[in-house]
Amino acid sequence: MKLYLETAEVYIPDHQPVGQALARTTHLCLAAHQDDIEIMAAQPIIECFQQEDKWFTGVVVTDGRGSPRDDLYQDYTDDEMRLVRFKEQRKAAIIGEFAAQIMLDFPSKMIKDASRSQPLDDILAILRATQPQVVYTHNLADKHDTHVGVALKVIQALRKLDQAERPERLVGCEVWRALDWMVDSDKVMMDLSTHENLQAALLGVFDSQIVGGKRYDLASLGRRRANATYFEAHGVDETTGLSYGMDMTPLMNDVNLQPAEFVGQFVQRFAVDVQDRLNRLR
Ligand SMILES: [Zn+2]
Repeated sequence: MKLYLETAEVYIPDHQPVGQALARTTHLCLAAHQDDIEIMAAQPIIECFQQEDKWFTGVVVTDGRGSPRDDLYQDYTDDEMRLVRFKEQRKAAIIGEFAAQIMLDFPSKMIKDASRSQPLDDILAILRATQPQVVYTHNLADKHDTHVGVALKVIQALRKLDQAERPERLVGCEVWRALDWMVDSDKVMMDLSTHENLQAALLGVFDSQIVGGKRYDLASLGRRRANATYFEAHGVDETTGLSYGMDMTPLMNDVNLQPAEFVGQFVQRFAVDVQDRLNRLR
């Protein structure tokens, strides 16, 4: 597999040959930054953990250079920060027993520029090398431009695959905006009731972000617990941890479907749900 930047990295925690390591992938997550995967795709990581026939591969698209920094890291240069964030992502890949962890090393501005095709070409090469059953990326209602930029490039790359090469499902996940607002029938439910210890470990290795004043570890575990409890108003908790996904598979299969129009349908169903209740109780 040829990637655009010389500095891109394919890290294989169990040191299998690259082609073999990638080909075993069943669940693939493509995210903007180091730590996004562990925030948004913990469920497939846990599902694949210690399974012979299920393997998780992570892809981080950007280089981590522009990360905020404080405390121990406050005087780090952008290059030093990049190295720290790569190292943290490798640690997560070891803990999660990933099939592979790929870091494409693109500057964020390239991801936010729709005219740049190189990230798209890399994503397409990865999809062909891994042939996953399920693909996870950012949801299109996320409020971080780089996240949405990655999701749009993933959709474009999936559309370039032949029908037979495409995964079964494309799921948009929660980072910078939870998906609790979606009507329940739209939610892809990802049960995170087990391995809370591993979930905490996967989030905990991103020390440079956490000591920088952002408790993504506590916030992500808290969101999962809140989702589990607030899902059902009239019953007992069925899970102790829950992440939500937006099923974006139609965008992969219908090349004429516009992303904005597609997300608008979810927003519309939310608006109707709110208005119907108010009309009913008026
Ligand atoms: Zn991010």
